[in-house]
Amino acid sequence: MNCFVGETERDLAAAVAAWSAGLGARISAAEKAGAIPREVIAELGPLGVLRMSVPEADGGLGASAVAFALVLEELAAAWASLAVGVAVNSGIVIGTIVRNGTVEQRRRWLPQLTDGSGLGAFALSEPTSGSDAASLRAAARRDGDGWVLDGRKQFITNARYAPVAIVFARVGAPDPRKASAGITAFLVPLAAPGVSVGPAERKLGLRASDTSALILDGARVGADAVLGEVGKGFALAMAGLDGGRINIAAQSIGIAKAALRRARSYAKERRQFGRPIADFEGVRFPLAALEAQVDAARLLMLRAAWLRDRGRPFTREAAMAKLYASEMAQRATHAAVQTLGGNGYMREYDVERYARDGRATTIYEGTSEIQRLVIARSLLAA
Ligand SMILES: Cc1cc2nc3c(=O)[nH]c(=O)nc-3n(C[C@H](O)[C@H](O)[C@H](O)COP(=O)(O)OP(=O)(O)OC[C@H]3O[C@@H](n4cnc5c(N)ncnc54)[C@H](O)[C@@H]3O)c2cc1C
Repeated sequence: MNCFVGETERDLAAAVAAWSAGLGARISAAEKAGAIPREVIAELGPLGVLRMSVPEADGGLGASAVAFALVLEELAAAWASLAVGVAVNSGIVIGTIVRNGTVEQRRRWLPQLTDGSGLGAFALSEPTSGSDAASLRAAARRDGDGWVLDGRKQFITNARYAPVAIVFARVGAPDPRKASAGITAFLVPLAAPGVSVGPAERKLGLRASDTSALILDGARVGADAVLGEVGKGFALAMAGLDGGRINIAAQSIGIAKAALRRARSYAKERRQFGRPIADFEGVRFPLAALEAQVDAARLLMLRAAWLRDRGRPFTREAAMAKLYASEMAQRATHAAVQTLGGNGYMREYDVERYARDGRATTIYEGTSEIQRLVIARSLLAA
């Protein structure tokens, strides 16, 4: 029983959990190869996952933020690399286009981001600007009817799968009085002249998820590439991240849930000192405490998603959910490795992957320190 979740939401999450259960050996092969196979992304199209967050009027399912979070939790429990790609595409990218795009922009890009032919990208970070995103250096200038963009975006999820990236670049000179001045969002087709993708990063975890640089070298886009208004891109990025944080909380919960599930079953089977190790308080108490923390994280996540669905402010609640869930995922995945002992450290058992994959959740879409800053700002505002 959960007061935030209705039957439709439960059914959608169950359908995705059933589909994910069939991924089987494709996961370890893809993690080894360092790429999500195109066929898997293609399956997500007919499954409907990619268009959940698109309103019905735009051809989507118009599902709630609660439903999307629960679906991401299930996807992450099966395969975090796929969940992060879906979260970026169908959460922050589609969400930003739905909220800010013109009818033409929605008609052009939403079908390509939902049919399984690719996954969209959100390009904010740069080599010299991460947490301090407003200090970005990518620049855009008008040229005839369109725009020319120059700069380098770093650590961009889905870059090599993306038909389009939302790229944040500054129009005009930086203003020392307002760091975010001039920042504008552009819908940049990856096929546009002057756009290229750098080599895939080699990462601790999420190895099948693509994380690459996006290079803009005199990249040319049309006048219709501006998303929202010129100079208003920073607010648009921050609004996107607010929603994105609910989805990172969902990923964290999915990863933690899967790790603890594995740890529980192992603890019941593995025998030492003549009994299952699950009989020892040193083993069972951490698992019990972490199960409570998974539930607490899920309630924080659902509260933020529920507020969002009702059009109420949710910035602080999303930051709390992301902070708590991502840090909980560190404790849960490490406890799972410990429960499996030496086997926990070995690749045959999934828990080492959960620990590696979960590590990213306290970093992307705003580090834990930045979440504390967001929460403190709202708590301590004059
Ligand atoms: C796997 C992965 C995928 C990613 N995908 C994307 C993507 O799709 N699109 C995108 O734009 N970016 C993406 N990123 C980038 C990510 O959002 C940034 O890495 C993150 O915001 C942190 O920025 P940074 O790495 O530059 O660290 P920095 O900002 O340099 O921070 C370094 C450390 O300093 C701390 N710190 C910084 N400022 C403060 C402060 N004011 N107070 C206290 N502590 C502070 C940070 O919390 C951190 O611990 C991805 C990153 C990873 C790892």
